[in-house]
Amino acid sequence: MKKICFKSIAITLVLLSFLSVGVTAFATEQDFNGTNNLKIINAKSGLFLTWDAVEEATEYRLKRYDPTTDSWSPITGITKPYYQDYDVKNGIAYTYKVCYMNSEGVEKCFQEGVKLKCLYAPKITLSCTPNSVMIVWNTYSSASQYRIYRKLPSDKQWTCIRVVRDNKVNYIMDYNVINGQNYIYTIKQMDGDVSGSYNIEGFSTRFCKAPTVTSKHSPKGAVINWTKYNSGKYTYIIDHRSAVSPSWKTVGIVYDKGTYTCSFDNIDFGVINYFRVRLKNTNVVTYSTSVYGIDPNKPMVALTYDDGPLTSVTNSIVSTLKKNGARATFFVVGSRVNSYKGCLKNAVNAGCEIGNHTYDHYILTNYKQGTIKNQINKTNNAVKIITGKAPTLVRAPGGSFNSTVKSSVKYPLIQWSVDTLDWKYRKSSSVVSAVKSNVKDGSVILMHDLYKSTADATKTIVPWLKSQGYQMVTVTELMQIRGYDLKAGQVYYSAYKK
Ligand code: ZN
Repeated sequence: MKKICFKSIAITLVLLSFLSVGVTAFATEQDFNGTNNLKIINAKSGLFLTWDAVEEATEYRLKRYDPTTDSWSPITGITKPYYQDYDVKNGIAYTYKVCYMNSEGVEKCFQEGVKLKCLYAPKITLSCTPNSVMIVWNTYSSASQYRIYRKLPSDKQWTCIRVVRDNKVNYIMDYNVINGQNYIYTIKQMDGDVSGSYNIEGFSTRFCKAPTVTSKHSPKGAVINWTKYNSGKYTYIIDHRSAVSPSWKTVGIVYDKGTYTCSFDNIDFGVINYFRVRLKNTNVVTYSTSVYGIDPNKPMVALTYDDGPLTSVTNSIVSTLKKNGARATFFVVGSRVNSYKGCLKNAVNAGCEIGNHTYDHYILTNYKQGTIKNQINKTNNAVKIITGKAPTLVRAPGGSFNSTVKSSVKYPLIQWSVDTLDWKYRKSSSVVSAVKSNVKDGSVILMHDLYKSTADATKTIVPWLKSQGYQMVTVTELMQIRGYDLKAGQVYYSAYKK
């Protein structure tokens, strides 16, 4: 049937150009019961119809009912018992009846119609990520599901690799791919039992492992790093987007390098900035990576909260931060995180950083290397299980460190420059005044998310800092943007302008 389909396209396209496809009333008598075995399928961006040949027919005519106009249109001049109807729109169920002209020039029709919803074949774009082929298609509200098929160039048959039951989802990742292998994909939309058409040739790509990409802040802008691709020499294109400039825009092009610094001119402050790296003349695209847009010329501070999490307090602080476009760093106690998963995730989702405050809040100077390492690793593992990311900063309980602690902890040790003593006074006003009288550009402020008084103080501190022009950033962001290299076993108190 597919071969016939191709031939009929050429024939019917020529014939169609002589026809006027308008709305006409029919005076034809309906002579026959049944449908004359009329069959309709979705094919080639339209509907393909076949019916049984009628011996006395000199010409076939189809009557098509369009529910959107509530009218029947004639399609005349058909010489063979099949027809490819392109004049149909996606998502509409058309009814057809078979008619024909006999040798006496009388039109005869079969009484019953056959109805089918027209479902177009979605168009596909393919790209390579570090470990998958990404298949993106145009969605249709008419679909109840999409079926994605794949084959190798040597395969005759398509294999259904995925069924997507949400018609708003417009992509999948195919992880079952081998570097250097060609794959062909096609997709059809389904509406219940009605099967849409698919592109017979499919869409082809070679899976080429994309470079993995990371980003960080620096005093000169956002540094985008990636692994060079297949160790060959390529031109890399760096694209940027954000909520302020939502479509991808190229900000940099480099040749045979694994790094690019996006200057602050191309960064949107106060929102997340996304970057991706493409290989020129290929469909190889990295996953995007992101940094928050921070203005290096405005003052900034890092609010830090230790000893938590604790649902009521942590959530209250995060909610204040969110309302003010601020973020903070929570140095958590590892033994607590499983009991307070929800607020930990909440903090991460709000763009906050999670730091490591040991597993049992041990004063590390009292312990040997093995215990110290164990305290740090257990906490990192517990956090990673919940948030997907292990902390990269440590704050020693009590701020106590010695040479054993410095050599045992394989992460930077973060101290503070403003101590609110919130744990001691448990009074919101004293926390507020400690911040107001001591804060300056580059401060790291110490608080604890265990006390309601601290959460209440945060409600005053955060809007006040904002009104003073401070950006409230994470510790890592503060150090990176001010050019403080974060190194294992080194101690940091603040990030004043150098
Ligand atoms: Zn502590």
